[in-house]
Amino acid sequence: MSTQMSMQTKQPPQIPFVDLAAQYRTIAEEINEATSRVIQEADFILGREVRLFEEEFAAFCEARYAVGLDSGTSALELALRAYDIGPGDEVITAANSFIASALAISHAGATPVLVDVDPFTHTIDVTGIERAITSRTKAILPVHLYGHPAHMDPIRQLAEQRGLIVIEDACQAHGARYKGRRAGSLGHAAAFSFYPGKNLGAYGDGGMVVTNDADIAKRLEMLRNYGQKEKYHHLSQGFNRRLDTLQAAVLRVKLKYLEKWNAARRWQAELYHRLLAGTELVLPSEAAGAQSVWHLYVIRTEHRDALKEHLLSRGIAAGIHYPVPIHLQPAYQNLGYKRGDFPVTEQYAQRILSLPMYAELTPELIDCVAKSILTFLSANQNGQGLYEQLVGHATPSPL
Ligand SMILES: *Cc1c(COP(=O)(O)O)cnc(C)c1O
Repeated sequence: MSTQMSMQTKQPPQIPFVDLAAQYRTIAEEINEATSRVIQEADFILGREVRLFEEEFAAFCEARYAVGLDSGTSALELALRAYDIGPGDEVITAANSFIASALAISHAGATPVLVDVDPFTHTIDVTGIERAITSRTKAILPVHLYGHPAHMDPIRQLAEQRGLIVIEDACQAHGARYKGRRAGSLGHAAAFSFYPGKNLGAYGDGGMVVTNDADIAKRLEMLRNYGQKEKYHHLSQGFNRRLDTLQAAVLRVKLKYLEKWNAARRWQAELYHRLLAGTELVLPSEAAGAQSVWHLYVIRTEHRDALKEHLLSRGIAAGIHYPVPIHLQPAYQNLGYKRGDFPVTEQYAQRILSLPMYAELTPELIDCVAKSILTFLSANQNGQGLYEQLVGHATPSPL
């Protein structure tokens, strides 16, 4: 059971962060049949599997159209381009996200404008968006981080008032709901990623834009396919950014199981919650009206690094999403942000820890993770008590 995440350690963790091989074992026959069919039919570019997967995924998102692309980053970028967002335009997104949310904006030629997150959901803070809007703002790109939907009603309302486009970054939120409606149907368009570790993951890269706008869907179909409407007739300087047909065949098989896998993540989150309640840890939860798909189960603690090490020494792989906020990345020095600009995001970067979470994780393994955490916390509490006895006061918290 080797995974990407466990490569740095000499002993592979007994509880990996994700276990894609375990998932494959549950659906191997169907996957092998689907991929060999594509190869036998030599239907490699777009074709039947991509078209059917687009229809099925649009239906899953309760939206009209879906256009298959080569990654989630492409999906975000091409969605912006389809709305003619580019040089001179500003697009507002969350400081606490995977860097691709900002990269897509830059790649479209526009300027990312970052906003801090609300401390409860870790998603973009709506009052912050309001303050960040200028005459150059063209779009808002809220991120449904960790599988939890952003505050879409106030975001959409604000967008309507100011004439802005809303593009959901739903790359971590396949199947999430906000007030009963699916992620992917909550803005003008939404981008999904099928990176292998996502809730719905391919065996390579893949992405999708979902929208109810027929004209935008048509534009995306051209943009991904050299800007052509019919073969060798090019209306724009498009790209080669199509969803790979073999990946579409894989994803069609996996889509049938997504509800079941998301339901497994839900009870896993509940179990973690039950086992870790009443400790000094800050546990994740859902806002009223939100249904998360628990792409990640992210706890917070001031002793994050020590806890992560402790877990690793017990063969448990935990992750940090993300250790360096976008505005402090060398890649975005040009934006002119500095440390202190987004205090919630910066504090979380020091404190967040993602626990193992994948559909095949058993209650026994979750129990084992929780026990290791509790052992750490009780040992640590003694240590802290000693420190306070010696120094006479508690360590000051940075916020
Ligand atoms: C994964 C991810 C992306 C990028 O998707 P890729 O398929 O890796 O290009 C964008 N935004 C968020 C929030 C993601 O988690």
